[in-house]
Amino acid sequence: MPVESIFPRLEALLPKVQKPIQYVGGELNSTVKDWDSADVRWALMYPDAYEVGLPNQGVAILYEILNELPGTLAERTYAVWPDLEALMRAEGVPQFTVDAHRPVRAFDVFGVSFSTELGYTNLLTALDLAGIPLRAADRGEDDPIVLAGGHAAFNPEPVADFLDAAVLGDGEQIAIAISEVVREWKAEGRPGGRDELLMRLAESGGVYVPKFYDVDYHPDGRIKRVAPNRPDVPWRVHKHTVMDLDEWPYPKKPLVPLAETVHERFSVEIFRGCTRGCRFCQAGMITRPVRERSITTIGAMVENGIKESGFNEVGLLSLSSADHSEIGDVAKGLADRYEGTNTSLSLPSTRVDAFNIDLANEFSRNGRRSGLTFAPEGGSERMRKVINKMVTEEDLIRTVTTAYSQGWRQVKLYFMCGLPTETDEDVLGIADLAKKVIKAGREATGSRDIRCTVSIGGFVPKPHTPFQWAGQADHETVDRRLKALRDALRGDKEYGRAIGYRYHDGKPSIVEGLLSRGDRRVGAVIRAVWEDGGRFDGWSEHFSYERWMAAAERCGVDVGWYTTREREENEVLPWDHLDAGLDREWLWQDWQDAVSGGEVEDCRWTPCYDCGVCPTMGTEIQIGPTGRKLLPLTVV
Ligand code: SF4
Repeated sequence: MPVESIFPRLEALLPKVQKPIQYVGGELNSTVKDWDSADVRWALMYPDAYEVGLPNQGVAILYEILNELPGTLAERTYAVWPDLEALMRAEGVPQFTVDAHRPVRAFDVFGVSFSTELGYTNLLTALDLAGIPLRAADRGEDDPIVLAGGHAAFNPEPVADFLDAAVLGDGEQIAIAISEVVREWKAEGRPGGRDELLMRLAESGGVYVPKFYDVDYHPDGRIKRVAPNRPDVPWRVHKHTVMDLDEWPYPKKPLVPLAETVHERFSVEIFRGCTRGCRFCQAGMITRPVRERSITTIGAMVENGIKESGFNEVGLLSLSSADHSEIGDVAKGLADRYEGTNTSLSLPSTRVDAFNIDLANEFSRNGRRSGLTFAPEGGSERMRKVINKMVTEEDLIRTVTTAYSQGWRQVKLYFMCGLPTETDEDVLGIADLAKKVIKAGREATGSRDIRCTVSIGGFVPKPHTPFQWAGQADHETVDRRLKALRDALRGDKEYGRAIGYRYHDGKPSIVEGLLSRGDRRVGAVIRAVWEDGGRFDGWSEHFSYERWMAAAERCGVDVGWYTTREREENEVLPWDHLDAGLDREWLWQDWQDAVSGGEVEDCRWTPCYDCGVCPTMGTEIQIGPTGRKLLPLTVV
């Protein structure tokens, strides 16, 4: 049975909302397949506004891979802004996909990609607008399987009540495998209903189905144990790792947005994973090991992506792009190839060394010289040791001196506040560092036209990192340190005017901390916030700390217990049954080393130090060099 488009009903509402174009679809390279040509249908959601969601690589890659599968279709849906939400409620218009404006409830799988926990309330809005019961336990045979992925899915417990399933790690292969399980189950006439479908997914070991696990608690509130409540369900669910990225050169047909979005460029992921061992970095820990794309695949993807999209900017993405074993050749090859064209190249540069400036020089051959960004993360040498970010003050000063003397005028430095063991002096060290940067720049150039922007984010301890046991700094402490830093920067007559300062207050980090390390009991708070009007919590203009605190109090949830409390080694953590491959003992030892000043090297260039990932997951570090070079484009 064809499913009708809701567009005629939506169209009548669009003149009354802001940025209506974000809801109309029809982007270049979007796909609309015939409904009846497919027997497995996915609605893919990025739970934020279109302008943030459309450039998301994870959703874009799955969208393409699933649509390439015969008998499978995938469409996209995004969070609607509150103005449209109100009209949709008034007129009974359901959550829709932007591709064919089909109602989300008509799909078999509703896949949601969470990069951040602050998108949880937007999931509830989408479910409610779609007419899908919020609680997985209340869903019936006609409701889609609600499946979460993305980094936040490594601890999906706070949203466990609202999810049917979650997948950890790389999505390419598991999305295809899930499609096959759904296809077979439907072809057999849906035996056993959605319960059996979920059981088949859970038995595979690659899909976490929260309802098949019971959580018991100690009287003091700590978790006693998490155990499967069915015999064939594994005790631990493992993450997925794609081992040969060259075999998955997606996106091949990049989506070109109609409305304005946060990034308008073609992005190529040049490697996945990071083994630098920064202790605060969840992305680095959960995506191990490093797997590089070869220089030739990168070159082919760039050429094809530009041709298919018409974008004139290419971004080379990864967690630390300058670490690709052939990045020098990639940069030079692409800069040579596109010299004199209107294609510009960008590389998010965060590593603090002169090599990064050589790369930036290559990349700016054909475009603007925007600012350079470096991320020392910690304001003092001591702090950087604790977080295992091995950057000395001399490294930083040498690097920025090179940048300024080669003509760069603006350098951005990124730091965090609220790190474990941090003192007021560590944060004030950021001011000293920034002043030294300006002083070095002035000396190197003989000019006062030098700027440095200090940007500070609040630290949130994350699951599957050595800091998963740490007590988070309370927001009063973070705010006090940030204010003292601001005063130290602004009050400096010699350098203050050359230093920009960007920071947010510490309150959103506390809510993020609650959601990151929360357990199933936090779900009630998310629901209460949503019922109280909570939407778009990642946006400062929508976020309300007071709303979250009031909801937590109503639900009897002690926010401090989840955030500022330090955990002991043997405490069962809500995500211990979800396996990112990292050995728990290694993580604990690394947490102890952090406090005592021990450092770890990058296992790409030093012997394996047994973090556990490779043997557990059957993976290995996969890096070049291949020794190949990029050829110039052939003129046809
Ligand atoms: S198991 Fe060894 S080689 Fe693999 S990521 Fe961990 S430390 Fe590196």
